[in-house]
Amino acid sequence: MPRKRKKIKSLESKRWGWAGFFTHIHHAEENPIEWSDNIHERFIFMEAKKSDYELPLRTTLIFRVPDSLLPKVALEYLKTFELLQEAKERLSERVCGLPGHRCRR
Ligand SMILES: [Zn+2]
Repeated sequence: MPRKRKKIKSLESKRWGWAGFFTHIHHAEENPIEWSDNIHERFIFMEAKKSDYELPLRTTLIFRVPDSLLPKVALEYLKTFELLQEAKERLSERVCGLPGHRCRR
């Protein structure tokens, strides 16, 4: 029987998508919050690799840190990451326009 993914949807942000700062992504980090550029992929990884007894606890403990609680530097990081994603998209579009390009998108 496939496992439920009820927590994933609540972790998506209207502003940042699947990227952001989250609690308890990994074990016993010194920093209470950690960056993920795609928390959705992290959940898919955990569902595939983590044991049945561990998975519910892990997925329960991961929360998105609200923007209002993020340090200024973390918000700046998110904005910069967003610009990077946009730049990557523009680059891909340019590469696709080059002669002889074999598209893998
Ligand atoms: Zn292409």
